[in-house]
Amino acid sequence: MAMDRKPRPIVDLTASCACGAVSVRLAGKVLSMFMCACEDCQKASGTGHSTIVLARPDDVTITGETRSFARPANSGATLTRSFCPQCGTPIAARSSRAEQLLMLPAGLFGSATEWYAPNQLIFARSHREWDEIAADLPRHDTYRDPGALM
Ligand SMILES: [Zn+2]
Ligand SMILES: [Zn+2]
Repeated sequence: MAMDRKPRPIVDLTASCACGAVSVRLAGKVLSMFMCACEDCQKASGTGHSTIVLARPDDVTITGETRSFARPANSGATLTRSFCPQCGTPIAARSSRAEQLLMLPAGLFGSATEWYAPNQLIFARSHREWDEIAADLPRHDTYRDPGALM
């Protein structure tokens, strides 16, 4: 599964939601970094795209109570998003298309993300022109390889 041309860093990061009730530790290899402009990500982020760190669930420890919401995504998969029930900060998301992968919002980790470099924009078919994306970032209408996991 060759998802990247860029290096995939090994990180050990801990972040918390806005109110501090939920903390997230990511300790392991970043599998991929991408942006997604699907309409579900637009609703969840309140802006034009989500900015995702893809990780193995085994490398992620979530402490504190979260709530989750599952809905059918544009891809046809079921997308389950979890968030802090007190402050609403998005914590993680998982797709039924790839249960062995966990999507974490890059912004959750604040200034500790200098290593972050997205490699693609997926679901560019619903990208909005007002949401400025680097011109040299590869864009895919849906997934880069619609037959693959991500
Ligand atoms: Zn919170
Ligand atoms: Zn999306």
